[in-house]
Amino acid sequence: MRVNDLFLPLSRQVVQLQTNLQGLVDDMRRIAFHQGSTPEASTFSRMVRDLYPYLIQKKFTAIENLLARQKVADAELMTELKLMLSKARTTFDRLTQAKDRDVFEATYAELKNSLLSISKRVDDECQKITKATQEEGRENVITSLGLSLLVVLFGLAAVAVSSRVLRPLPALIQSLKKIRGGDFHQSLKVKNNDKDEVAVLAREYNRMLEALRERDEKIQKQQQELVQSERLAAVGQLSAQVVHEIRNPLNSMSLNVDWLSDQIGSGTSEVQDTLKSISREIDRLNQITESYLVRARVPSQEDQRAPVNEVLKEIIDFEREIEQEGIRIETELADQEIFVRTDRSKLKQAFINVLRNAREAMPRGGLIRISTEIRDNISRILFIDSGHGMSEKVLKETFRPFFTTKPNGTGLGLTLTKEIVEEANGKIDCLSQLGKGTTFVFQFPI
Ligand code: ADP
Ligand code: MG
Repeated sequence: MRVNDLFLPLSRQVVQLQTNLQGLVDDMRRIAFHQGSTPEASTFSRMVRDLYPYLIQKKFTAIENLLARQKVADAELMTELKLMLSKARTTFDRLTQAKDRDVFEATYAELKNSLLSISKRVDDECQKITKATQEEGRENVITSLGLSLLVVLFGLAAVAVSSRVLRPLPALIQSLKKIRGGDFHQSLKVKNNDKDEVAVLAREYNRMLEALRERDEKIQKQQQELVQSERLAAVGQLSAQVVHEIRNPLNSMSLNVDWLSDQIGSGTSEVQDTLKSISREIDRLNQITESYLVRARVPSQEDQRAPVNEVLKEIIDFEREIEQEGIRIETELADQEIFVRTDRSKLKQAFINVLRNAREAMPRGGLIRISTEIRDNISRILFIDSGHGMSEKVLKETFRPFFTTKPNGTGLGLTLTKEIVEEANGKIDCLSQLGKGTTFVFQFPI
């Protein structure tokens, strides 16, 4: 700006001034000092004396105005230039008044020098400014290079950060694809201390996956149960027919036993006892088949109460022959009779199922301990056997309908037992250790 506004016009004016001066000097030399005093010469000389100085004075004024107009911070330079200018101007005044050639030449030389030094001063200043500007330019280049480098670095950093932040996204998409195929096990890896949005998203996603997984498992389980209950219903229908078919032979057996009993009359009491036992068993069969297979048709009577100890003794009596298989039964029954709100034959069936399983669990003999007790208003009946026990997997399934590990098993024994127990508001639990034995615990409210 300073070069454009000040130094260039200044140097232009100075050059014009020099040119004008040169012209004046040439003409003066040619006309005023050489050609004597012809009338043309004197006219010329006057013109030269009047016109050139007028032009030159105008230039001086223009330069002075230029300097005066400038409000440059560099006041020192301005005063210096003004001083030089006013010196040149006085020299010029002297030049115009020079009467003889020598004085004229000397004054001209002085003026020329003055103007030259002004030009030089202006040129110097111009160069100084140009140099400074160049340097500034170089600095600017360096600065802009540095800035560009910084921008590139920032860009790289941004890419690195975003790729780190967005890293879980491909995994997320992959996992989403798997969900579509029904696989809910593809949870995303998130560090606990990650707090950014994507980590939060991933965590939420995992939670959603977990919920989906749970729901899926639940649906599958319900489906299984449905299938199971349908199977049970089918079995129920079939059983109803079976019950119908066996009821008549059972009735005739019962009648025949009664008839036998009558025929023997007061014969050996041992035979009578056996007959009674048979008829009791027939009754039980009658009841069991009905309640077992067509449960819905046999509602338990509310006021029924089955004596636990008595029923247990009866069973043990009846299953005496198992002693021949090397199985010992030990009992520890509560002094007081325990009553359970259920049908006597159902309770008997429940216990028999458990006892049979225990027996089947020890083909090479062993010990079965049966105990009863009342504590905290709850009656407990324990069947502890020293059989082969169950693996955890079997233990989990043991109450499931149709679950069996036996070649000829039905898988219904424990299902029925559980049903009977729950109908009486009780519960049944099973503890077992593979190779050590199994314990079934019945609990009933008093
Ligand atoms: P089933 O006797 O017809 O197999 P259950 O419902 O009575 O059906 O029993 C289911 C399964 O539970 C058995 O096949 C057996 O694997 C297991 N189980 C039941 N009781 C015992 C026991 N006392 N010792 C070892 N396993 C047992
Ligand atoms: Mg069984």
